[in-house]
This record gives sequence, structure tokens and C-alpha cells, in this order.
Amino acid sequence: MGRKALRLGLAGEEALRALAEREGLEAEWEAFLRLRTPGPDPEAWAEAALEALGVEAKEVFLSRFRMALRVDRGEPLAWWRSLLLDEVLPPEVGRGVAVLPPLRATGVRARRAYVLEWVAGRYTLGEREDYFLLEDLREQGLLKGLPRRLRGLDPLFLEELSTRGEEVVLLYPEAGPGGPVEPLAAGERPEALPPASRLEALPQAPFRPAHPTSPASPPHVEALRRYLECPFRAYLERYPLRDGEESPWRALPSPVDLGALGGLFADGRVGPWLRAHGAHLQGLRLYVLWPGRRYRLRLDGVRWEGRAVHLYRLLGEGAEPDLSPKRRWTEWLALKALLQREDVEAVHLWAWPWLGRPRPVGKGVYRKGDALPAFKEVEPLLEKALRSWGAFPPRPGPHCHACGLTDLCRKEEE
Ligand code: SF4
Repeated sequence: MGRKALRLGLAGEEALRALAEREGLEAEWEAFLRLRTPGPDPEAWAEAALEALGVEAKEVFLSRFRMALRVDRGEPLAWWRSLLLDEVLPPEVGRGVAVLPPLRATGVRARRAYVLEWVAGRYTLGEREDYFLLEDLREQGLLKGLPRRLRGLDPLFLEELSTRGEEVVLLYPEAGPGGPVEPLAAGERPEALPPASRLEALPQAPFRPAHPTSPASPPHVEALRRYLECPFRAYLERYPLRDGEESPWRALPSPVDLGALGGLFADGRVGPWLRAHGAHLQGLRLYVLWPGRRYRLRLDGVRWEGRAVHLYRLLGEGAEPDLSPKRRWTEWLALKALLQREDVEAVHLWAWPWLGRPRPVGKGVYRKGDALPAFKEVEPLLEKALRSWGAFPPRPGPHCHACGLTDLCRKEEE
């Protein structure tokens, strides 16, 4: 309508109203007028205006509008404008290309625009009560003077749509459910694009990546434990092995030398705790790697006292011990191996939360010949994991609920 008014040299509200009537756009004109000034319910008006403008971050605008109303209920617009000048919109993340309905696209200028469905009748304003009246009849006789419908063939409307961008691509389907369709203007079919992926290049043989395999380096024993639940997850979690890396215990040097911890003693929470547990901490070696031919262990904390070894499972602040054979293997395997050594008489097993006190686990002290039921439970599982290690297919199950891989394992199967 704006274009037409310009061509006809029309100006002023009355003239524009007459033009709207002639074009059958009274409803749109009225809606436009309603948006120009706040109605009796200013907030509802503001919301409708934002909606008509296609503003998505409505709440930001509306909160400023409410502020403007508080300052001047009678004339809020000047205040709203001024408050909005200081507003920063939240960043739009993950946005693609905007797809706008034709009426919303009018007035928008883009570097490049794609017009979809460039076929006759696609762009109409909607059905009216006189939908079945032929357009030609409106030009003559008694029916002359009936408002014209916008049928998607109006040259000005088409021009408006087709000039939205410096470069415009008009797209149309060659056929629809009713048979072949005629484009408003035939274009040139672009050359086929080269295949962008193996999926496109080999349509008969859908591409499925091979499941990962591992070089034969001995795996970490906790990776083996998780392998039994889901091999695929265990594979991806190996690089890097994150377990323990963000532990607060990393603040301590290894081996712990209380005499060299001046800064930490000054800390209001850590200092008293260091003093209370000095006997356990002095000489404690942290995150000790124990390489093996078939698997590796990483012991959280180890301290020797003559022929006795203290093994500590180091936990985060307030954490509960997790040494059941279902949740942890390392300590039970280390316990068994240590008790077989000539130079070891006893092994003390502890669970120790950061800033808490060490608590004995199981019997607390294990000696040669003691029964180790937890180890008996772990051993066959470990053998089973070692036998199948090397292939890493996904294995869905209840553990998927806690999996951090965001369904990565299913992506290529769809
Ligand atoms: S979602 Fe389930 S099957 Fe997939 S990787 Fe995670 S644990 Fe394995």
C-alpha cells in the first residue's frame, strides 16, 4: 500500500484510508492505526505492538514499558523510547536465517533474500466472505466497486516481495499435490551442487562410521569398569581421563609436607583441618600411578608406615564413600596386590572427604589371608571387561540417563 500511495502521490490519513478501502485492506489499516497510539490497556497495547513487529525478546521491552508507565502513565511513549535506548538485547544464540511471512518481510532490506514458493496465489492476505466471487466480475456491472482481493498477482505486491534484498533468489516447486504448478516467473535451475558428505555421495550405501577401536595400551581400571556399562562412553571418556582432576585435593603437593604448606595453614577452613589430620597427611602421596601389563591403577592417596600401607579414597567435600564393587574397583585391586607383597604386613583402607575426617572402609585393616569379598566380586567383572576391550559399540541401558555424551552415539544411526 505504501508503494502504491507513493506512485499515486497520495498523502494524509484520509487519502490512505480511501486507498486501503479500495484495495480491500481496511482490516490491516485499522490494525495499523490501533498500533499507533496506546489504547485503554496500555500494556496489552504494547504487547500487541511488539508482536506485530515480530519482536522476540518481548519481556525486555515490556519491563521498560512498565517502568515508563510508572513515570508517566498519560504519556509513556517518550519515556519508553528513552529507556529502550539504554537497553541491550540478550545475544541471540543458535539462530539461523529468519523466515518471514510476506507481510512481515515488507520494509525489511536484506543483503540476500530467498523468496519461497514463487507461484500464483501463494501470497494472499487470507480468505474473505466473497472468496468465491471471480475477480473479473468485480470490474463490471453491479459488482463493480466491491473491494478487490489480493490474489498474489498484484504487480506491486510482487515487486515488493521480489525486491527485499540486493540479491533475491526466487524459489518455487515445480509441482504440488494438484499437479504441476506455474511459477510467477520462470527462473534458471542452478547447477547441481557437488556432494557435501559421504552420505550424499553414496545414497545406496548409507555411511556409518566404524565403531572406535583402541590401541593396545593398558586401560585405566575405572575405564574398564565403565566399559562394562557402555563401551562407547568408556572410549570417549578415556581422553582425557577426568576422574579426580578437578578434585580439591589437587591443592596439596605430593607427597604432602606439612612444613611447606604455609599459605594453606592461613586459610580459615583448611588450616584447622590440616592441623587436625596431620598424622594422616604427612607424607601422603596423591594420585599415584601404578602401571601394569594388563591394566593401570591410579591410587588417590597412599602413605607407608613401616610395613603397613594406608590407602585413601579421596572424595570431594561432603561426598559419601563410593567403594562398593559396582562403583569403584581401584582400591580393591590395589588391596589384593599389596597384600601379596613380601614387604607389606597390613593395608588400611580409608575413605576421606575433603575437609572431613578419614573413615575406615570395610574391616578397616586387612592382613594377609583375610577374606576379600569385594575383590571376589570385582575380579570376574574385570576379566570380562579385559576380554572384550578393543571394540567400543554403544550399549544403551539405564546408565544412559546419566550419560554426558548428549546422545552422540545415536547421531549417525538416524
Ligand atoms: S547414551 Fe547410553 S549408549 Fe549412548 S554413549 Fe551414553 S551410555 Fe552409551
